[in-house]
Order: sequence, then structure tokens, then C-alpha cells
Amino acid sequence: MTANRLTKLLASELAKSGNKSAVFEAKQLVQHVCGSIFCEITDQQLEFALMLCTKRLSGEPLQYLLHEWEFYSLPFKVGPGVLIPRADTEILVDSALEFLKTKKPLSVVDLCSGSGCIAVSIAKNATDCSVTAIEKSPDAFEYLKRNIALNKVDVQPILGDITTEINGTFDLLVSNPPYIKSNIIPSLQPEIQHEPRVALDGGEDGLFFYRIIADKWSHHVKNSGKIMVEIGSDQSDEVSRIFASAGLTKIKTIKDYSGNDRVIIGTVNL
Ligand code: GLN
Repeated sequence: MTANRLTKLLASELAKSGNKSAVFEAKQLVQHVCGSIFCEITDQQLEFALMLCTKRLSGEPLQYLLHEWEFYSLPFKVGPGVLIPRADTEILVDSALEFLKTKKPLSVVDLCSGSGCIAVSIAKNATDCSVTAIEKSPDAFEYLKRNIALNKVDVQPILGDITTEINGTFDLLVSNPPYIKSNIIPSLQPEIQHEPRVALDGGEDGLFFYRIIADKWSHHVKNSGKIMVEIGSDQSDEVSRIFASAGLTKIKTIKDYSGNDRVIIGTVNL
């Protein structure tokens, strides 16, 4: 069988299950199994491809099956236990890099770092900048360390959560914390149920982590430094209010490339 024929077979199986990106996903799976979509495939490759297709049909995210996903044009290892980098998060990196152009050298801390996609993309694209990445889940922390090594960047990984006491202050704090309301998670798509709940669950009102970032972590940001966080598209008012009550100023909301509110930026004043 040719890879082309296998692609069509997988695409039709995926499409039957209602997958809207069936052809794209089939090509990705065949490329992953065979290293090309232009070759003859062996029986072993066929068996492997069908096994991956079955897993995909059961709701396992494509990204986990491929073991690697792109973010900010960089490769990131992913798998069960770590949140898959989302393209929506790239706007947070853009905002961070814009700020990091202003003065040098600068220090950055990334909280709830997960795969490290934000910290690594910043370190890769900013000069004269020291980056610390904090992640609490031991599984995700392994991916964080692998992704730092894979992208050959100088990021200091720390195993800890947002209640961990760390010394020092930073010019910029970035974070994509868990922000989905606990009771909504079970109703989200099957792929999300395969991702770590700790990376998604923002507590009863989805805002648990923003309160801690505003109240505790603003003391770890230098005067005139910034806090930039990813938010759910309906959380702009609430997170802006939390930031304002913690004394942050110049609070603004940035939209992602799909036009949804996605990032809140605040300035710290000592
Ligand atoms: N953006 C993710 C989603 O929609 C949520 C990520 C998060 O909670 N930080 O699934």
C-alpha cells in the first residue's frame, strides 16, 4: 500500500467520527509513522498507523500521538501529563517580547510553565534576558526540562507551585495559569479530558490563580515591571478588577489572532 492510500483510509475513518480536520490529521499521522507521505508502507507501519488512528478515534489528542507540537515556530515535546501549547497563547509571547525590547538586561519568571512553551519562546527570541520557569507537576516538569534542552535555551526550571517561596524580583511575570471553571471541565471536548486537569482547573470561578498572582506575585515584580497573563475570552473584566484591587495600574486587555480577549497586562507600582 502507498502512503497516499493509507492517508485516504485514515482520513475517511477520522471523518466518519465527525473530525473536521480529518485530512490534515491523517497526513500528520502518516508522516509520523512513515517519515513521508510519498512512499510505500510496510505491514508494520500499517499496523502502527491503524493503532494510532484507533487511539485518535477514542479522543486522544493528535498532539500526544505525534509526541511533538509546534509553538511560536519552535518544536515542543508533549504527551499525557502536560498541557498542549495553543496557538492562542502566542499573543502572550508577542506582548512579552515587545516589553523586553524596552530595556536590558531583564529578568522574567513564567508561572505554571507546563511544557515551557512561553518561557522557551521568550528565551529563544529575546536577548540579554534571564528566564525562570516554575512548574508544579512532576510529569510536566520533565517535559519542561526536555523542551529547554531541545530548543537549546538558557531557562532555569524550578519544580514548585505558585505558593512556593522564591527569592528575588523580576522585571516581567508571565503566566498561562489554569483558568477554566471546575464544573465546566467535564462538559468540554474529549481531547481536553485527556489533558491534565491541574493545568486547566482554575477553581470554582476560574479565577483562583489570578488572585494569587496579583496578591502574592506582584511583590516579586520590580517597580514599573509588568505582569502579563493569559485569560479565558470572557474573563477580561474580572481579571482586570482583581489586578486593580491589588494596586496594579495601566491595566489593558489584548486580543488574540482570533479576535478574542486573551491577555491582561498590568504594571506594578511599589
Ligand atoms: N486555553 C486552554 C483551553 O481552552 C485553557 C488553558 C488554561 O486553562 N490555561 O483549553
